[in-house]
Amino acid sequence: MPLVPRPGIEKAPLYIPGSHHVEGVAEPAILSANENPLGPGQAAIDAYHGAADALFRYPEGGAVDLRAAIGKRFGLNPDQITCGAGSDEIITMLTRIFAGPGDEVLYSEHGFLMYPINALQVGATPVKAPESNLTTDVDALLAAVTDKTKIVFVANPNNPTGSYIPSAELKRLVEGLPDNVLLVIDAAYSEYVCKNDYNDGVELVDKYQNVVMTRTFSKIFGLAALRLGWVYAPPKITELLNRTRGPFNVGVPAQIAGAAAIADLSHTDKSISHNDKWLSFMTTEFENLGIQVPPSVGNFLIAGFGDKDTADRAYNHLRSNGVIARQMGGYGLADYVRITVGLEKEVRLCVDIMKEFKG
Ligand code: PMP
Repeated sequence: MPLVPRPGIEKAPLYIPGSHHVEGVAEPAILSANENPLGPGQAAIDAYHGAADALFRYPEGGAVDLRAAIGKRFGLNPDQITCGAGSDEIITMLTRIFAGPGDEVLYSEHGFLMYPINALQVGATPVKAPESNLTTDVDALLAAVTDKTKIVFVANPNNPTGSYIPSAELKRLVEGLPDNVLLVIDAAYSEYVCKNDYNDGVELVDKYQNVVMTRTFSKIFGLAALRLGWVYAPPKITELLNRTRGPFNVGVPAQIAGAAAIADLSHTDKSISHNDKWLSFMTTEFENLGIQVPPSVGNFLIAGFGDKDTADRAYNHLRSNGVIARQMGGYGLADYVRITVGLEKEVRLCVDIMKEFKG
């Protein structure tokens, strides 16, 4: 008798980040994964090196110091924080806790791919609500809720569209959801947003028992390689997360470097200024070339080419000239190419290459 995996798991698409190898280019500009091109701050790098002495020890399972550092920076109770191996692991844990076969997991049309992938892994059905103008549509999400819905995932800001849900709209979403549906506010890019009508959702976690907010060290903190993320949740959900996570799910280097990174406000400020400047430069230059760029509040943009064939050719043109961007077919946005804001020289290179693109 052959082994039989649990139903649904074979339907989960593979998450394929794309190769960093370009034939004939020694050091391509990697603008495909929304990392911080400045890397981590010096304090985090020093702390990481310091972790070498402790490599033979198991990590502190509860990530106590790291949670304290996160709590201090954001004014949150560390007892309501759980850390994970990237916010990907947090998304996985939440899905395992709240959804299973026969349940529905709801997300916005162009939402982060790991939401449907995780739903399928637990045998649940991913359900997409339509967007308007590449922006999460609260009414469409609420209309898609059924008595099978267990989780609603929203990324705020959203990857890959770069749009955000204003605070009042997010509140309307929470208030419109039944109490037995978990709302996950994925705020992976929140540090980059400077809009008065945006907040990361902490207030909603404090007010409602069915809301959590996830964050990551992979973006502005520049520590994607360490795999570190966290979630702020009501005590009951935190308790369930602690039952679900592996006993040592966050390694020593990640805990030590993460605590140093989160205390380093100047690196965040520097990264925000860099992003503001070069996101706006890249947007304007692309628009001058007739490329459509929906407004983005993240550290990336999507460049619209009107049809899939042109977008594919633009992607290949960038790639063959040493710039690795990201194709968006998996997100239902095959007419677009996503590009991360890189270093100044990478952004300039990308723009110069696009000037040579014959649409
Ligand atoms: N949420 C969103 C919206 C993302 O774009 C990403 C990374 N691309 C993640 C979560 C996962 O990030 P990580 O696992 O590195 O924390």
